[in-house]
Amino acid sequence: MFAERLIRARKASGMSMSTLAKEIGLSANAIKKYEHGENMPSSGNLLKLSKSLGVRSEYFFRPTKVKLSGIEYRKRASTPQKTLDRINGDVLDQAEQWTELLEFYPDSVRPVPKFKLPNNLPEKVKTTEDIELIADQMRSEWNLGFNPIPDMIDTLESKGLMIICTHVEVDNKFDGLAGDIEGTPVVVVSVHQPGDRQRFTLAHELGHLVLNGRLSKDLDEETTCNHFAGALLLPKKAIIDHLGEKRRAIEPRELYMLKHEFGISMMAILFRAGQVEIISQSLQKNYYIQFNKLRWRTEEPSEPYPNEQTFLYQQLVYRALGEGYIGESKAAELLKMPLTRFHKERKLGTMNANTH
Ligand SMILES: [Zn+2]
Repeated sequence: MFAERLIRARKASGMSMSTLAKEIGLSANAIKKYEHGENMPSSGNLLKLSKSLGVRSEYFFRPTKVKLSGIEYRKRASTPQKTLDRINGDVLDQAEQWTELLEFYPDSVRPVPKFKLPNNLPEKVKTTEDIELIADQMRSEWNLGFNPIPDMIDTLESKGLMIICTHVEVDNKFDGLAGDIEGTPVVVVSVHQPGDRQRFTLAHELGHLVLNGRLSKDLDEETTCNHFAGALLLPKKAIIDHLGEKRRAIEPRELYMLKHEFGISMMAILFRAGQVEIISQSLQKNYYIQFNKLRWRTEEPSEPYPNEQTFLYQQLVYRALGEGYIGESKAAELLKMPLTRFHKERKLGTMNANTH
């Protein structure tokens, strides 16, 4: 158990064996022996390890509860393995804390619904028109209408998806990942990304869940999931209402405004305009080339779309505390906060308020 947890914590920290060894004044070989389960650190070295890796020493002896399976990375071509390792470690830690928190809830209370797809989705998705239809159907099943979805994270969490926001620095090289933890679908997005990219990743991963087993062979799954994501975030009806049925040219500012209304990138809107034939394929291609030249593909102009966050975990820690399923020190531990700070935050900064 110790060896496995040490490897995980080290990878999550982004340190190599030799860097870690240097930090705590041991040989790389000593670390290697710990990681191969051939040796155990003394209590002094254990303390150094936990300090250096930013975990409590109990961390190394907690059984690994969760397993992330069926991982799909949405990454740019060159995401370094080291970054992926760090993300993986962070995700496993957060997922483990989720599992621990939910176990404090009594069986009669289900604070998070089990994820379930609507019953009457079509069995087959064969054409691009079918993709538009199934995205519209998801919106109607979930009572979203044709308006912008204000908060994608909240919307998906309320349907039972586990959303994990990772703080690992990712530059431009990572879009997100999806997997499964004991039957619960998990989607991971980065807190460092603009909201429109987070939202597209979330919608894309929902696409995989919705389209799984329904796609006809001649449709490429990744392309189809991207199409689904665009159609979910900006339905055909909505984009036609805003831009008109046929256009000979579109002002960039129109795309910019629509981006901020619907939380979807200008580039994705351009693709939508082509998909629903508001503009011709050749016009779409021209704009694409222009976007490229302006470097708007790497960073879109002017204000970014605001970032989304998840509050559910925090809310459920406080709910468990309020209901007496856990005490204050457990709550502080679950939120990775020193008890004194937790106590202050619990009282909203007013230290003298007494609610007991
Ligand atoms: Zn995908």
